[in-house]
Amino acid sequence: MNVQELMAVQTQALAEVADAGAPAELEAVRVRYLGRKGQLQTIMESLKSALPADRPALGRAVNELKQSLTAALEARKAVLDAAADAGKTSAWDATLPGSWRRVGSIHPVSQVIAEAIRIFARLGFTVADGPDIEDEYHNFDALNTPAHHPSRDTQDTFWLEGRRLLRTQTSPVQIRVMESQPPPVRIIAPGRCYRRDTADATHGANFHQIEGLYVDRTVSMADLKGDITYFAREMMGADINVRFRPHFFPFTEPSVEYDFSCHVCHGTGCRVCKQSGWIEISGCGMVNPKVFRRVGYDPETVTGYAFGMGVERIAMIKYGIEDIRLLYDNDARWLEALA
Ligand SMILES: [Zn+2]
Repeated sequence: MNVQELMAVQTQALAEVADAGAPAELEAVRVRYLGRKGQLQTIMESLKSALPADRPALGRAVNELKQSLTAALEARKAVLDAAADAGKTSAWDATLPGSWRRVGSIHPVSQVIAEAIRIFARLGFTVADGPDIEDEYHNFDALNTPAHHPSRDTQDTFWLEGRRLLRTQTSPVQIRVMESQPPPVRIIAPGRCYRRDTADATHGANFHQIEGLYVDRTVSMADLKGDITYFAREMMGADINVRFRPHFFPFTEPSVEYDFSCHVCHGTGCRVCKQSGWIEISGCGMVNPKVFRRVGYDPETVTGYAFGMGVERIAMIKYGIEDIRLLYDNDARWLEALA
């Protein structure tokens, strides 16, 4: 054993210390060199057979090896212990920000439908449903829409094979309900409708309506006006007024359009109501006797009213939304701001 060999052992030992990636590996290195049967002990034994003149230099080299190896082991141990501690504390660090999840909110269209169902339930209405794919009879004929009516045009309606179509209104649900049960009837039918409209700020190719139908022995226009006014005040605010204007619809007679007083300016005129003080909602009227005859009801013994309303329109008014397309852009930030 000479000094160069001892230097080589030192280099090898220090490299092994630096490579140790875990406390157990480090301990194995320590035992291999500094243990009772370690390499250093063997070297010390061999010094006894060295020439007396060489012993002091070899002794110093062995001491240096031992000291540098011990120091390196301690330093490496400190590093490994610190890394292990860092692993432990990160799991328990109460000052770290928590993981954050986006919380959803109910879409304005769904909110309006749910609120309308609650309001009309208090008036005794139940919810009816019908198919999105309708036939021409239920969507037009049974509702007394003339064969030449422009709404049947292919420019307005999505026609499918076999004279079927995507319903342009929720009104066919009225027909299906009356066909399936005798009077009295008191239903609302919320649902999706489809028209060949080019999307702009107030139109979309699909939208939602809520249809209402009340049929009994003595249903009158006064019931219609009272119930629509009740709905308006429950949905938009207690100070809302409702105005009815004569109009024409094929399936009601007489027919009216109805407006809500502007909930923003309370009738004095503003941008939302285009300075008129009123916001047009939709149409309604007394069910046409021809419609009753089609479904087998006797117009001599029952009367009824029907109304429709656009869900998007009410949502836009209620939440101050200026462009209908925002409702379908799926922008989570917009929906969160609305929640
Ligand atoms: Zn206004």
